[in-house]
Amino acid sequence: MPQKKLKQPQKKASAAAEKQRKLAAKATKRTTEDIVKSSEKTVAHIDKVSETTASSTEKENVIVADKETEASELEEVKPPAQTGSGYIRPTLAPITSHYGAREGLDASGFHKGTDFGGAPGSPIYASKSGTVVIAQNDGAPVSGYGMATLIQHEDGNYTLYAHQSSQSVHVGDKVSQGQVIGGMGSTGQSTGTHLHFEIRTSMYGGEGNLLNPELFF
Ligand SMILES: [Zn+2]
Repeated sequence: MPQKKLKQPQKKASAAAEKQRKLAAKATKRTTEDIVKSSEKTVAHIDKVSETTASSTEKENVIVADKETEASELEEVKPPAQTGSGYIRPTLAPITSHYGAREGLDASGFHKGTDFGGAPGSPIYASKSGTVVIAQNDGAPVSGYGMATLIQHEDGNYTLYAHQSSQSVHVGDKVSQGQVIGGMGSTGQSTGTHLHFEIRTSMYGGEGNLLNPELFF
């Protein structure tokens, strides 16, 4: 029975082979699992990438929105709108001091116009179409007003723009409502950058010849 004896090792061998095969299959399975897992990781990674892409797209949208906001802000650097009075605010800057008796001052502290506080050089707009009758740096009839412009209007009134940093119109110029006539400054008797704006019923202004600008816009 030598064959039987031979069979045993054969069986053992085949058992060993079977074990090898199973191990190999297990190894293959593990490899497959690894591949699946790693491809899942890849998918997850792709998801993350697409998330990043999405968020960067969102950021781009935000930037675009900001640009749109900036663009609309630039569009707003147009003169203030008409309110029906025929006059417009001469600047986009806010009012810092009202026309009339100033608080804490006596009657002589009467404020002849409206002050607007803004950045140096910010545009000053013609409040109404008209003809430039004064464009000078101080001296009568705009003493103390520094660089000032006076525009005569068809309704008989005049608008005065004082303490300018620059002037872009000359005496005799016809100006349109909303046209830039100069930049905001602090020339003359002024303690800070602002526009002093008056509506006068006569060229020389003064008591009895002034209107409250704030009633016009
Ligand atoms: Zn003033």
